[in-house]
Amino acid sequence: MAELIRPAGFPKQKADAIVRCCIKLRDEFGGRVPESTEELVSLPMVGRKTAACVRSYAMNIPSVCVDTHVHRIANLMGLVHTRTPEETEFALMDITPRERWSDINRYLVRHGQVVCLPNHPHCERCPVSQWCDHGSEVLGRK
Ligand code: SF4
Repeated sequence: MAELIRPAGFPKQKADAIVRCCIKLRDEFGGRVPESTEELVSLPMVGRKTAACVRSYAMNIPSVCVDTHVHRIANLMGLVHTRTPEETEFALMDITPRERWSDINRYLVRHGQVVCLPNHPHCERCPVSQWCDHGSEVLGRK
């Protein structure tokens, strides 16, 4: 199994965790993947980000999945002022409608890969620069 998931990184640890997840799902959840965040994070190597992604993408349950792109861009834009992805998740839930929670990851990850690159955000060609604290600063709008 490690070979199959090698492109995702840390193949040995993840293969081991997948096997342990399957055993726990079989033994404690009747062979079904639970829906609640609390139950999902009880699975091996599953944190809030993974739980939110599973709920959002696999189960269609509105969830804010905060990875490094979402945490970084939400803070750069001034949407939130947080120190950790978990704080960002709760802060974004506070300021966005529940029915759009799952869009946040989809949009900000793509934006972080194409325009707002981690080490070189292209503020000069960013379509949301007028609503972004960092963009307004570097483009001299403040
Ligand atoms: S203006 Fe710059 S920092 Fe703000 S979201 Fe766009 S690329 Fe990122």
